[in-house]
Amino acid sequence: MEKTYKKENWFFSMKKTYRIEPKCFKDQSMAITNQGYLIPCCFCDHPKIMKSDRMKDLLKVSNINDYDKLEDIGKTVEWKNFYNDLKNNVPPVEACVEICSIKQDGSKVKELRTDTFIDTKSKTTISKRIN
Ligand code: SF4
Repeated sequence: MEKTYKKENWFFSMKKTYRIEPKCFKDQSMAITNQGYLIPCCFCDHPKIMKSDRMKDLLKVSNINDYDKLEDIGKTVEWKNFYNDLKNNVPPVEACVEICSIKQDGSKVKELRTDTFIDTKSKTTISKRIN
């Protein structure tokens, strides 16, 4: 049976006026944290999200050292439920609303996103506007 999670404040503040278009169903890569846990994408690697009940449960079954193949992590109930929620337009974590959702009028929930990374050649920090 699927576990029910307590809805956090961000969930109610959105009032379901959006639909999720998961980038992870298209070309967004999964990510591995520096502590060796597979997570659905790099957008989930935020302190607030990583401390949520939903992510804590996902992390319990996502230590890459516990598996021979990464695809076995995706076969766990926790990961299947995570993706089922996305398919049903239920955001499992706040990033799914902020990053991958569209408002009813077609605009993005978060209008501006900037990715910041370090260029290893020039050793400078680069910020790139994504949308
Ligand atoms: S934020 Fe959510 S919907 Fe978007 S890519 Fe990550 S896990 Fe998928």
